[in-house]
Amino acid sequence: MKRFFILLLPLILFSSCNAHIGAQQYDVPWWMIFIPTVVFLAAIWYFYGKHLAKKEFVCPICGGRFTPSWYKAAFAIHFNDDRVFTCPHCHHRGFCTPEKKGK
Ligand SMILES: [Zn+2]
Repeated sequence: MKRFFILLLPLILFSSCNAHIGAQQYDVPWWMIFIPTVVFLAAIWYFYGKHLAKKEFVCPICGGRFTPSWYKAAFAIHFNDDRVFTCPHCHHRGFCTPEKKGK
């Protein structure tokens, strides 16, 4: 279902390129919709990555704690809160559990 909406998104973006204000119809260039959408999604990704970078992740193998950089946290494969990182202590790559800093 999610994949269906992802495939449908470009169609929705490019089909809604005109605006009706009163009886007038205005054509809106595609980039006036596309660029703000990309900027908005990039801003969400940036702030969510910064939010994730405030957490410490715990390695399941060695128990080492580390803080990932915001872009690695934002782009990491995840399942619920667990994210795939390479542990800087033992170099194990796998799902790491987040914990608040200082616990
Ligand atoms: Zn480790």
